[in-house]
Amino acid sequence: MIPSRTRQIKSGPQHSGPVVYWMHREHRAQDNFALLFAQQQALLRKQPLCVTYALAPAFLEARHRQFSFLSAGLRETAVELEGLGIPFLLRMGLPAEEIPALVRELGASILVTDFDVLRLKRQWMVEVCRSLNMDVFEADSRNIVPCWLASPKKEYAARTIRPKLHGLLPEYLVEPPVLAPHPIPLTERPASANWDTVYRFVASRPGPKPTRFAPGSKAASIALAAFLRTRLNRYGKGRNVPTDPVISRLSPYLHFGQISALRIALTVLDANADRDSKDSYLEELIIRRELSDNFCHYEPDYDNTDSFADWAAATLSKHAKDPRPHLYSDEQLEQGLTHDPLWNAAQMEMVNTGHMHGYMRMYWAKKILEWTESPERAMRTCIELNDRYQLDGRDSNGYTGIAWSIGGVHDRAWQERPVFGKIRSMTYNGAKSKFKIQEYIDAQLGNSRKSLP
Ligand SMILES: Cc1cc2nc3c(=O)[nH]c(=O)nc-3n(C[C@H](O)[C@H](O)[C@H](O)COP(=O)(O)OP(=O)(O)OC[C@H]3O[C@@H](n4cnc5c(N)ncnc54)[C@H](O)[C@@H]3O)c2cc1C
Repeated sequence: MIPSRTRQIKSGPQHSGPVVYWMHREHRAQDNFALLFAQQQALLRKQPLCVTYALAPAFLEARHRQFSFLSAGLRETAVELEGLGIPFLLRMGLPAEEIPALVRELGASILVTDFDVLRLKRQWMVEVCRSLNMDVFEADSRNIVPCWLASPKKEYAARTIRPKLHGLLPEYLVEPPVLAPHPIPLTERPASANWDTVYRFVASRPGPKPTRFAPGSKAASIALAAFLRTRLNRYGKGRNVPTDPVISRLSPYLHFGQISALRIALTVLDANADRDSKDSYLEELIIRRELSDNFCHYEPDYDNTDSFADWAAATLSKHAKDPRPHLYSDEQLEQGLTHDPLWNAAQMEMVNTGHMHGYMRMYWAKKILEWTESPERAMRTCIELNDRYQLDGRDSNGYTGIAWSIGGVHDRAWQERPVFGKIRSMTYNGAKSKFKIQEYIDAQLGNSRKSLP
């Protein structure tokens, strides 16, 4: 266990009592450094260890689809933990209230939790820490290199964070310890919500409906194995071709922490596959993904246009009054009712499957910039739709991907064009030259909505 993966975020007087791990980003039992650290502390103190999760009544734009995926994965993790002698205590309500209440009820000695960069999660943590007078620690198991060690500042681009990450990977890209059964039982077990109550709550969330992605850590491992067996070899050349998707589709599992990037990276490195494909996949999984957490960690305005670099803000402002070729309402966009069947197909892929192909995500967001009256509105609309429909939405990758598409974050200036200014644009004809767009449109829209409504 590498000590630098964990850091203390609050100190207080020493207490004796169980060690509590508050899980909120990494919903898994294995390859979870906060949980490993919590167990290490519990063993040192000869105390029981328990895991808690507070299911908040609302989380950004999450709907039925995301709550359903989350709760099924969590239940599987709860069963695994209970089998290791680690009670899983589920609370329903606001974490800022539920976690301190449970910690007090247990008479806990220390609290350990997941590192997270999202504003709402940081706010929960501030409130929980404020309510408790004890030692609190956080561990980063989302990134292979802990975010605060990878870089002490907001990075400009992949090229600036890449050498830093590569320098640290030999230390961090290593097999983690296996979570062992915990030998000290918790004798007085506080109340935990029952799963029927959770499912009733999930059923009461508004649509969209669940998708075909099977939830949970076991399903994540199966999906990883299928990717290695059938698609990794073609990833290098094919990752930008939406009609023959060779992508891993692991982002929902990564988003809910049902599998770790570390586990995926170690498995990919071990796989017998084409070198270029492995490198190309690891570039996305490690460099791009950790760059996203770096952006949201160090940029308080990660979800609005104040995060754009000066050159990008200036060029968008210069073109603010350019006539837009089309202007669409939120409803037209949400229903995929634009003049562009390729865009409509991408929107419907997201609405129907909960996962849009990565190439189409860029096209989709850039067109929203082109078809709305301002970058501010484009950013807001992209975030709302992305967070509502994608299983992997509400993630630092999403906020960064949208800021990249609309505000040139981590990108450079390109040839100046109407509306976009020097922000990189993407066009229908450009997509047409890259893949058979009609195949993609047919696959996503069927025969009914291929062209102009
Ligand atoms: C406008 C826009 C919105 C996006 N929204 C999200 C989102 O809500 N959630 C999300 O996880 N990703 C988002 N991305 C990033 C990327 O498109 C997705 O991570 C990827 O398409 C997920 O599919 P996959 O797992 O099959 O990816 P693969 O191509 O198989 O890649 C493997 C993993 O690498 C990481 N990765 C790949 N591309 C990127 C990238 N550009 N930036 C950061 N990490 C990357 C992801 O964790 C992904 O699961 C967005 C990108 C854009 C341009």
